[in-house]
Amino acid sequence: MRRALEEARRAFDVGEVPVGAVVLDGSGELIGAGHNDRERTADPTGHAEMVAMRDAASTLGAWRLSGCTLVVTLEPCTMCAGASVQARVGRVVYGAVDLKGGAVGSLWDVVRDRRLNHRPEVVAGVMADECAALLTEFFARRRVG
Ligand SMILES: [Zn+2]
Repeated sequence: MRRALEEARRAFDVGEVPVGAVVLDGSGELIGAGHNDRERTADPTGHAEMVAMRDAASTLGAWRLSGCTLVVTLEPCTMCAGASVQARVGRVVYGAVDLKGGAVGSLWDVVRDRRLNHRPEVVAGVMADECAALLTEFFARRRVG
């Protein structure tokens, strides 16, 4: 999560909503990293999780991220939760909860929907305060500025 937070700070520094993510393989090796880059890329799918999963898939040369862990500072939205299922990610670890749009337990629980044939394991609330603080600071500054 510390590495994911570093990514989130990178987003913060360039004026993107500070969410960061990393992907670890089965042995804990870092194979993907990224942060929210929707403004820079003008890409609606530029969420941290998507960027990190693309990076990991490119590292592996395969779309299947079986046995991998996606670590992200904010609870994934429906798109990213869905993508983690599509990528067959083994585990999703997240920091802050997203009560307004979270799809891994808050508003929806896409990754543990029994109707889907793949359900990643979930670990929620890891370093949640640090992850949330960065977002709070970002939006507070934006209101002032
Ligand atoms: Zn997302």
